[in-house]
Amino acid sequence: MARYTEAVCRQCRREGQKLFLKGEKCTTDKCPISKREYAPGQHGQNRKKISEYGLQHRAKMKTRRYYGVLEGQFYHYFELAEKKQGQTGENLLKILESRLDNVVYRMGLASSRAQARQFVVHGHYTVDGKKVNIPSYLVKEGQVVALSDKSKTTDSFKTIVEANSGRPVPMWLDMDKANLSAKVERLPNREEIDLEVEETLIVELYSK
Ligand code: SF4
Repeated sequence: MARYTEAVCRQCRREGQKLFLKGEKCTTDKCPISKREYAPGQHGQNRKKISEYGLQHRAKMKTRRYYGVLEGQFYHYFELAEKKQGQTGENLLKILESRLDNVVYRMGLASSRAQARQFVVHGHYTVDGKKVNIPSYLVKEGQVVALSDKSKTTDSFKTIVEANSGRPVPMWLDMDKANLSAKVERLPNREEIDLEVEETLIVELYSK
């Protein structure tokens, strides 16, 4: 599967904000973005005035990197978002939030979306009691996502769950901490999605 090859922390520096791509390191003082807020590379400190297109492109790249989604799939989500009622930009973020790899990350059952993606592929999670190994699977209202019974007993998942226990689970997921499962009560509102991005810029970019 094609993935980003740029060093992970450089992606955050490129976007000028934390994208929380490396799990535990992101919340410690080892996070390099706290020390070097400028973009990576030789010319990283010589920021030029950014064009309208540049702003739109950066908004798209930031969102793609945050969720770890490649261009083709991202555009597919945009097309889905356009067909739904409501604001396209907000619909797009809701679709991205409903990916199974994002949901298990939000539940604290993985330390990063990249790790969540790997664990989904390895079959560690169930949806409505059935194993689902497709990271891009879009969960729906009423479905129950859980760590599989077999994985619950492993030391590695016990460690991961413990390490992520301080990260709040969003309100749209009704988390059952004892069973390491969550019911999708609804999809999130824009205010509940913590990505700092002007999603309307992405809509403008794709509407040209
Ligand atoms: Fe690296 Fe995480 Fe900091 Fe981003 S937020 S720069 S991924 S440590």
